[in-house]
Amino acid sequence: MIMKKRSSSLYDLTYSDLKANPPKVVILPWGATEAHNQHLPYGSDVIQAYEVAVESAAMANGSGAESVVLPPVPFGNNAQQLDQFVTIHLSTKTAIVLLEDVVKSLTAQGIGKLILVNSHGGNEFKPIIRDLQNQYRVLIVLIDLYKMIPDLISEIFDVPGDHAGELETSLMMYLSSGKFSTNKAGDGGRIPFAIDSLNKSGIWTPRPWTKSHPDLGSGNPAAATAEKGEKYFNALCSELSKVITDISDAEKGEIPYL
Ligand SMILES: [Zn+2]
Repeated sequence: MIMKKRSSSLYDLTYSDLKANPPKVVILPWGATEAHNQHLPYGSDVIQAYEVAVESAAMANGSGAESVVLPPVPFGNNAQQLDQFVTIHLSTKTAIVLLEDVVKSLTAQGIGKLILVNSHGGNEFKPIIRDLQNQYRVLIVLIDLYKMIPDLISEIFDVPGDHAGELETSLMMYLSSGKFSTNKAGDGGRIPFAIDSLNKSGIWTPRPWTKSHPDLGSGNPAAATAEKGEKYFNALCSELSKVITDISDAEKGEIPYL
């Protein structure tokens, strides 16, 4: 395997690299390992979170930020997909302990700023972050990638979808240089809940995925292209790199970094 060194990824940096350029902010990509319709790999969320984080951090570092990207957390909350082969569910209990260990380690090294780059809709971090930020007096910023640049998303995609749909498939087509296509994909349709009042706005209960989405995807990927994925990836990284630069520059005392 030929390894390409990437300046923003901790995987690829040595201790001397870090001593020469100590990071002011650390970025933790967090995905999930799960089926994505019939055409995208289980690693889709991990690949997206990691690739976007590494590219965004490289862009930010190029304009003066001092950031580094940790290895991605590969597992997410997939409690409603345990009937799908080799889908791994990370419980909230484990996520709390894992994130606390990361924050505790960084705090011990004098690093007080962490950006969490989440790519999986089933992961919920807000209550965990509220508790940790209060306990450790660090700045923890949550980025839900799929919620960023909503205007551009509606401009680029006909129907983005929320799991292995047009948006995610386009992004994976671009990131994999065409390795994945929509050949084997189902249309990602949803079977509504049989209990009718649960289909209304403001009312929520988790979807039993295999029953609600028989293709194991949500949203039709048919209109996906690598070109759309490239446009989306570049816009996403440009937006995220600005956040990384701002957090890298942030000084203690600036609201909300108290
Ligand atoms: Zn995904």
